[in-house]
Amino acid sequence: MKIIGLIGGMSWESTLTYYKIINEEVKRQLGGFSSARCIIYSVDFDPIEKLQRADKWEESGRLLNEAAKSLERAGADFFILCTNTMHKVEAQIVDGVKIPFYHIAEMTADEIIAKKIGKIALLGTIYTMEGDFYKSKLIERGLEVIVPDKEDRETVNRIIFGELCMGRIEADSRQKYLNIISKMVEQGAQGVILGCTEIGLLIKQEDLTIPVFDTTIIHAKKAVEKAL
Ligand code: GLU
Repeated sequence: MKIIGLIGGMSWESTLTYYKIINEEVKRQLGGFSSARCIIYSVDFDPIEKLQRADKWEESGRLLNEAAKSLERAGADFFILCTNTMHKVEAQIVDGVKIPFYHIAEMTADEIIAKKIGKIALLGTIYTMEGDFYKSKLIERGLEVIVPDKEDRETVNRIIFGELCMGRIEADSRQKYLNIISKMVEQGAQGVILGCTEIGLLIKQEDLTIPVFDTTIIHAKKAVEKAL
């Protein structure tokens, strides 16, 4: 079994989910007392979140590059970044790091394509929904991506930072998300990407009739696939 490196803490609420899924999946596949060989570098999210709002991506890229190098020195065979948003600085993160890095959007796109879906709704932070760094990975692979309108994007983002990253799960917010998703289904979305690692704390496949692509679950399971 290879050693999985994880850069987590953005937020730690979702890193917990990664740790749980990775271990459950290793146990499911290997049986007995099997558990994952992994190293988690969990960052302090507060300065990183401030740098996001201040639009100082280079600085956070530097911090995450140091984390990646630490994982490599500690013996990780490959690594993943347990957030969608910070993939914005992917190039900086992997700079000078020799172990492989597996991109969350690429792994998610593979799942969507395998399900023969062409038009997909994307929910995530403002940075993920409005920037190009994430959508381009999906579009390059032939997917048509739609995001909520401006007002709904702000609602989705406010719930991520104001509630989910703080560990608060509110039924009212779940309903807001479901309403936003149903508007995108009316626009032709055949599935939805939970493109923020905390959204899975709020929305599950059981809440919807269209396929749900929870990036946390997909990424964690793919990491196990690479490890075994
Ligand atoms: N974990 C979230 C994501 O997947 C949001 C937190 C962040 O901005 O890094 O995008």
